[in-house]
Amino acid sequence: MKIENLVRDNIRRLKPYSSARSEYSGTASVFLDANENGHDLFGGSLNRYPDPLQGALKERIAKLKNVPPESIFLGNGSDEAIDLLFRIFCEPGRDEAITCPPTYGMYQVQADIHGTPVRRVLLTEGFQLNAEAVLNEISSPSGVRGGGRGKLLFLCSPNNPTGNLLDPTAIEFLLKNFPGIVMVDEAYGDFSGVPSWSQRLAEFPNLVVLQTFSKAWALAGARLGMAFASPEITHYLNSVKYPYNVGLPTQRAVLAAFEKQDVTTVVDEILTERKRLAEALGQFDFVEKIHPSDANFLLVKMKDSSLIFNYLKQNGVVVRDRSKEPHCEGCLRITVGTGPENTQLLKLLEALAGDQNSIIQNSIIQSL
Ligand code: PMP
Repeated sequence: MKIENLVRDNIRRLKPYSSARSEYSGTASVFLDANENGHDLFGGSLNRYPDPLQGALKERIAKLKNVPPESIFLGNGSDEAIDLLFRIFCEPGRDEAITCPPTYGMYQVQADIHGTPVRRVLLTEGFQLNAEAVLNEISSPSGVRGGGRGKLLFLCSPNNPTGNLLDPTAIEFLLKNFPGIVMVDEAYGDFSGVPSWSQRLAEFPNLVVLQTFSKAWALAGARLGMAFASPEITHYLNSVKYPYNVGLPTQRAVLAAFEKQDVTTVVDEILTERKRLAEALGQFDFVEKIHPSDANFLLVKMKDSSLIFNYLKQNGVVVRDRSKEPHCEGCLRITVGTGPENTQLLKLLEALAGDQNSIIQNSIIQSL
């Protein structure tokens, strides 16, 4: 597969913006090239533009992830990479994307922003890929094989909001047979214990793997996401991004995090808490099903999810109502918090279960 043939004509021809810091990155004593303010008024050299290609950070991430720096793109959260993939590959109003709901909502939102039609191929009721259906979908007259229009396939493993890993055989089948870019979103991969698809980039030129510092690394506020792909694809990502897309405080915060902490202990703690939470939730009559999770959250089917959602909210605990998603009727998505946070949630649910006279309990019983 020639990636170049999938790229929009204007992007293939693009002469990217050349920033002052990308034209000169040495150690001069005086920098008068970027119209910055030479006075470091607030300390920490925040008066200077950051490294546009985040060289030091990529070197460090390359070691951590066992991926060469030239195969790494860094963005303002991994959401940035999703946006850029549309800019690179999808001619607005013409090229199509394929999503497999229930899944992460930003794929659809970004498609809508970019004017990209979306073909939705639902996961099975067990939340697994229907790989044949994906290929059938793109074989239709306006699909990739018919008109060369299906460009992006979004897979999420472990999937949000369902929490499960997608079957690797189905992912591999699609990587081999889907004639466009296959993005495997591993935002929750650190909780899954399975090897990352980033270790197989050499086998699949159309593979883009997404990861983030927002979950296991506890740096959601810093905004740093990663895309791993062939150097050809990262070249395009770097060509269309804003010149200084990752701020200096973010680059520093993540480098400092590497020095301070190994996250595996915290990940283990979250996994232990996930087990405790799942076991405790399973005791309540109003919990119908706890879907197996490879992530840091649980998708829980409740007998009256909207009442429980509102009850928790009124008591200061916010979970996510996913009951409108396909195959997710009555489901709340509950993030595994810290030990005390999870205990607070469970205590509220215990109070609800024990309070036979409460309006909520009565309405739940009525709705059974
Ligand atoms: N992918 C998935 C599956 C997510 O759930 C999220 C955040 N909720 C993201 C990507 C984006 O994460 P971020 O932009 O913080 O890296």
